[in-house]
Amino acid sequence: MKDRSQARQKKMLADYFQKLADAPKTGQKVVYTFVPGNLTELILSFDLLPILPEINALQSGMRQKSKGYIREAEKRGLSADVCTYVKCDLGMKLLGNIGPTGLPLPDPDLLLLSYTGCFTFMKWFELLKREYEAPVTMLQVPYQAEGVITNEMRDYVVKQIRDEVIPALERVSGQKYDEDRLSELLACSAQAEDDLVWVFESARHRPSPIDAFFGGVYYIGPIFSAFRGTTDAVAYYRELREEVQDRIDNGEGPMTPEGPMGEEKFRLVTEGPPNWTSFNQFWKMFSEEGATVVASTYTKVGGTYDEGFRHDPERPLESMAEYCLGCYTNRNLGSRIDTICRYIEEYEADGLLINSVKSCNSFAAGQLLILREVERRTGRPGGFIESDLVDPRYFSASNIKNRIESYLQMIDQRRAQGVSV
Ligand code: SF4
Repeated sequence: MKDRSQARQKKMLADYFQKLADAPKTGQKVVYTFVPGNLTELILSFDLLPILPEINALQSGMRQKSKGYIREAEKRGLSADVCTYVKCDLGMKLLGNIGPTGLPLPDPDLLLLSYTGCFTFMKWFELLKREYEAPVTMLQVPYQAEGVITNEMRDYVVKQIRDEVIPALERVSGQKYDEDRLSELLACSAQAEDDLVWVFESARHRPSPIDAFFGGVYYIGPIFSAFRGTTDAVAYYRELREEVQDRIDNGEGPMTPEGPMGEEKFRLVTEGPPNWTSFNQFWKMFSEEGATVVASTYTKVGGTYDEGFRHDPERPLESMAEYCLGCYTNRNLGSRIDTICRYIEEYEADGLLINSVKSCNSFAAGQLLILREVERRTGRPGGFIESDLVDPRYFSASNIKNRIESYLQMIDQRRAQGVSV
C-alpha cells in the first residue's frame, strides 16, 4: 500500500504534466531550466511553469522509455560518452516530445540556463537552442573552488538575476516583477525545507525509519522540481513528516517496493545517483541484505538544506543566489569529502558506497580519490560499483549484486574481527 504522501506526490505530478500538455490551449508559458540552482519560485512568481529536462529523463528511464530515446540521439551523432540524460532528453524531443507520462510537452518559451558546476549543462542547452526558437538566458554561478561562498560571489549572482533573468522573465510573461509575491513563495519554500531536513535527519534513529537514497529520491521530488514554493509542497512535506514520525514511534524501518524493510543490518552512506532503468531491482539488492542508506549526497544536488540553508523571504534574491551557489553540484572535491565524512560520523554509518555513473563525467571524476580519503579519515570501508543513469545497456545486475554482497560481507568480517566499522 502506498503512503498518503506518495499518493499526493503522484497526483501533483499528474496535474503538473496535464497542465503542460494543455499549455498550447491555455496559453501557459513555460521555462526549461535545470534542477541544481533552479529559480523555481521566481519562475512561478511570473505565473510561468518550469520544465526540468533531467526530471523528464529520469522519469523516462523509470518507465523504460529511455533506451529508444538514447538510440535516436546516438543516430544523430551524439557519442557513447555523452551524459545519457542529455541523449534521453534530445531523443525524446526528436521523437515528438512526448513526456514521461505519455502526454505531449510544450516547446519552451525561454531556456533559462542556471549553470552550477557541470559543463554539460551548457552543451545541453546549446543542443536545445538548435531545436527550439526560444531565447536563452544564462545565470552564471561561480564555482566554489575554494569551498566557500563569498559576498562577491553572492552579489555577482544577484546582479545577474536582477539585470538578466528578471527582465527575461518579464518579457516572456508580460508581467512586472513582484517581490512581495516572490517572498510569499519563498516563505512556503522555507517551511517545506524545514520538514525535508527533519525527514532526512530522522535517519539518525536505529532502525532508520527512512532510506535516505532510494526513498530519498522520492522525498526530494517536489522540492527539487516544479513545486518548491507552492502550498502543495508544504502539504506534501508535512504529511511525509507525520508518516515518518509514525514509523519512529512504532520502531519501524523504511518502506521498500517489496513492503516493510526487515531487520536493519547495515547502515550506509552513498555517493552518486541511483540507476533509474532498474531502480526497484537496484533497491532490492540493498533491502534484501538488510542494508539501509542513512545519508546520500545525491539527495543534495538540488540543495544542501541539511547544512542550515533556507530560502529567506526577507532576502529574496540574496537567498536565491546563496541557494544556487550552495548546491552539491557546485562544490569541489574537498567539500564533498568533508560532507561524506560528516554523514558517516553523524549517521553512524558502516561505510561509503559509491555508484559511479559512466556518462556523468562531472561527478565520476575524482570519486576513487573521494573513496580512499573517506576511508583514511573515518576508518570505515568503501565500496565501488558502476552503472548508468538512464542507459539500460550499462546496468549489469549480476555484477552489481556481486559487488554489493562482497562489500557487505567485508563489513561483516571486520565486525567479526572486532574492527570498528
Ligand atoms: S551533473 Fe552529470 S548527470 Fe547532470 S547534466 Fe552533468 S554530466 Fe549529466
